[in-house]
Amino acid sequence: MNNKFDILIIGAGVVGASIARELSRYQLDIAVIEKEEDVSFGTSKANSGIIHAGFHSQPGTLKLKLESAGNRMFDQLSRELGFPFERRGELMVAFSDDELQILHKYYQRAVQNNISGAELLGRERTLELEPNLNPDILGSLHAPTAGIVGPYEYCFALMENAASNGVKIFLDNKVMKIFRKGASLEIVTDKGISLSGKFIVNSAGIYSDEIAKLAGVGDFKILPRKGEEYLLDRRVGGLVRRVIFPVPSEKSKGLLVIPTVDGPVMVGPTAEDIDSRTDFSTTRSGLDAVFKNAQKMVPAIRATDIITSFVGLRPAATGGDFIIGKTSVKGFINAAGIQSPGLTASPAIAEMIRDILVDEGLQLKKKDDFCPERTAVSKIRPLVENRDYKTLETLISKDKNYSKLVCRCENITEAEIIAAVRSGHTTLDGIKFSARACTGRCQGGFCTSRILDIIHRETGIPIEKISKKGKGSEILFYKKGAF
Ligand SMILES: Cc1cc2nc3c(=O)[nH]c(=O)nc-3n(C[C@H](O)[C@H](O)[C@H](O)COP(=O)(O)OP(=O)(O)OC[C@H]3O[C@@H](n4cnc5c(N)ncnc54)[C@H](O)[C@@H]3O)c2cc1C
Repeated sequence: MNNKFDILIIGAGVVGASIARELSRYQLDIAVIEKEEDVSFGTSKANSGIIHAGFHSQPGTLKLKLESAGNRMFDQLSRELGFPFERRGELMVAFSDDELQILHKYYQRAVQNNISGAELLGRERTLELEPNLNPDILGSLHAPTAGIVGPYEYCFALMENAASNGVKIFLDNKVMKIFRKGASLEIVTDKGISLSGKFIVNSAGIYSDEIAKLAGVGDFKILPRKGEEYLLDRRVGGLVRRVIFPVPSEKSKGLLVIPTVDGPVMVGPTAEDIDSRTDFSTTRSGLDAVFKNAQKMVPAIRATDIITSFVGLRPAATGGDFIIGKTSVKGFINAAGIQSPGLTASPAIAEMIRDILVDEGLQLKKKDDFCPERTAVSKIRPLVENRDYKTLETLISKDKNYSKLVCRCENITEAEIIAAVRSGHTTLDGIKFSARACTGRCQGGFCTSRILDIIHRETGIPIEKISKKGKGSEILFYKKGAF
């Protein structure tokens, strides 16, 4: 096995995946090392999926600069990589004169940041755009360039495209040691794999401070900030078209009402500083706060419509801003502390890291055969929703597995599950995030056993070894002679 690379990227979230895909344009040997069984299993799988317009962060921060730059890159990225992205726009709504004054400040910031189309709207126009908003609102800040994205589909698409352009991915390998050997930096993983690189990029999310420490750089700390989100039934999916924000606080953008690219509406996230990096529990107080605030903006929202909930941990760093740049260890580059709006900023972070690497001595030579495109898997849900039975018939005539429904809630067929497995997703969560199976009302009650069968048939992995998200989360218990 080749273990010598130009660049080692630690972490396969949206940041590591964006960097890998950007650098795969050049004649470089690149490896991505990820401790989980699949890519996008860290914070990148548990967020609101908003591509922010570019005025939420404090002026003068990297967050603000990269948020607006990243936003502008999403149309091309989604065209090339075939992940779902829609510029739905966002409305920040005010309920009092004080809040209207704050809206004005954000409007000025949007103008200074050249956010196209940003406008202050009065009560009537706001309610015309979003008739389900509380009629007590006084006005809003409208930013039509904000978008929504399928966050894990985006991450998978980046990584699949990077891999097809030559990037090597080492999954289920936790980086345990980093040390210098001559001109190179070496990594050793918990599987005993040693990899050597001229440069290391640290994009390890909530563990990025620990990775920096392994390299001998101990100048920042990650302070995890917990965010609880609640997904509502598809039945109430049409409540809002745009992302609805309250007027934000110092610490967070507030509790939002968020349409998703898949149809259902989500509410949240909370923002709570915690000590643990493994606390993914939702709380009664979080749920109460989310629904109280969401119902204030959109009164028709009901907690009884919740079908599932999740928690994401924002990798907030000391200092509050992203930590991107060279370090005291030559060749070791940080892309750390990428809290919100890290999803939005990710493609701009990748370009910034590329330029830092060049400044640190990396030579870039374009590949003649770089292919920026990835073909997305055809899905039947939009065809069924739009009653496009002609295209559906064509699809089925080419592949009979498009006629076999596996997930009834979300209309996912066997063909879509097989495609997910063949592109490398072999855990139940991997299938859930790439094909959307198990995400509907029954939360996998109907389709889990069918998916296990397909994974087993396609890969040969024994059924009892198939897990939810890696070792220790096997779905079925089987011990010879136990029954
Ligand atoms: C609730 C919530 C809502 C959010 N909403 C939005 C939003 O709407 N819009 C937006 O722009 N941003 C949003 N964000 C922020 C966004 O999700 C993050 O900024 C982004 O996902 C960070 O990506 P990352 O690649 O840095 O981290 P991660 O996705 O966490 O990736 C880091 C990876 O490193 C791996 N790793 C860690 N240690 C090791 C090791 N020792 N060896 C190997 N691998 C390792 C991890 O397993 C992980 O996969 C939100 C965040 C949260 C929590």
